[in-house]
Amino acid sequence: MNKHFDVGIIGGGVIGQSIAYQLAKEGVSVVVLESQKIGSGATNAAAGMLGANSELEANDAFFQFAKESQRLYHTLSNELFEYSQINIQLVDNGMYKLAIKDDEVEALQQLVKHHSSLQWHSREVVLENEPTLSMGIKGALYIPEDGHVSPTHVCAAFSKSANYFGASIFENTPVHTIEKTAANEYTLSTPHTEFTCKHVVIANGVWSGYFFKQLGINGSLKPVKGECLAFQSSDIHLEKTIFYDHCYIVPKGDGRFVVGASMVENDWNTLPTIGGIHSLLEKVTPILANMESATLLHTWAGLRPQTDDGKPYIGQHPDGESIYFATGHYRNGILLAPQTGIMIRDLILGREQNEEYVEAFSLKRKLAQKVRG
Ligand SMILES: Cc1cc2nc3c(=O)[nH]c(=O)nc-3n(C[C@H](O)[C@H](O)[C@H](O)COP(=O)(O)OP(=O)(O)OC[C@H]3O[C@@H](n4cnc5c(N)ncnc54)[C@H](O)[C@@H]3O)c2cc1C
Repeated sequence: MNKHFDVGIIGGGVIGQSIAYQLAKEGVSVVVLESQKIGSGATNAAAGMLGANSELEANDAFFQFAKESQRLYHTLSNELFEYSQINIQLVDNGMYKLAIKDDEVEALQQLVKHHSSLQWHSREVVLENEPTLSMGIKGALYIPEDGHVSPTHVCAAFSKSANYFGASIFENTPVHTIEKTAANEYTLSTPHTEFTCKHVVIANGVWSGYFFKQLGINGSLKPVKGECLAFQSSDIHLEKTIFYDHCYIVPKGDGRFVVGASMVENDWNTLPTIGGIHSLLEKVTPILANMESATLLHTWAGLRPQTDDGKPYIGQHPDGESIYFATGHYRNGILLAPQTGIMIRDLILGREQNEEYVEAFSLKRKLAQKVRG
């Protein structure tokens, strides 16, 4: 087995796999080391919303980065299918952010004034488009660009496509240490094998904090647990993703509806609680008229990797080591995966960078901005 690679990527979630794909496509020799199964961390727990407009409020570098990433899904959908035969299940029907109270109507109508891509839909239009929503709705903000994908399929498609271009991908291979060699390379130690790489990418989600400590990097990551449920019902039909009061309903192409997600800080346990699922049901029942007869299919939970200011770390080691960080994608790692793959690829290959992005996601940035819930 070849144990010497140009780039060693720690973590086989959607971020690590996107980076592997972009690098392997350029002919770089890449190894991905995943401690469990591909996608088994936050990636498989995600609802898959591409919520650039619905999740991010300020029109800053982070928003521009998210919009570019969202757009990339349109080309990636065909490209990844060509190399992997996996359909990432991109659905582009947009999102409705509902208003039920008067002050919600006012707040959402204000947003339309500032963003040309957003529209206000009256109660009548909303109910005409989505007849199974409850009659109590006053209207909705229509966000045409915020579609969704299947995170599990995206991760698998990146992985298989990276492999198509020669990337080696190892599951059940946790990296314990990163050590510099006399030849200025890095040894990644796993329980059975040592891998030597010229560059290392740390992309192991909320568990990246372990390497921050090992490498003496300032910065922290904390888990924000999210619980979800899936149901099906022949009485409920939705075209668009529905969002209300921090709760969303995503109509998946296979007939399932995914409802998410709770926000529990500093909880490392990945089992959903009765309380968490109950709170989701309480929020969703008044929105959907026929919810009582729906069949509950399953429940699950995952850990969002949150940084102090809610923006990811995407950049090089502050001391110029050939160690790169792509972590802390918090609530939007599926949305941000395509553009993160490109940015890390270009950093490693020494290509020109968008300096605003470099600064916004740098490990050296000042963490002044308060995180959004
Ligand atoms: C309930 C929920 C809903 C979400 N919904 C959305 C959404 O709708 N849209 C969106 O854009 N985002 C969403 N997210 C966020 C998104 O899931 C994450 O931001 C994204 O998955 C992070 O990807 P990642 O690859 O960095 O981390 P992960 O997917 O967690 O992958 C990290 C991987 O590293 C592995 N690993 C850990 N330690 C080691 C080690 N030492 N060696 C080797 N491997 C290691 C882990 O096993 C894991 O597979 C949601 C998250 C949750 C929890």
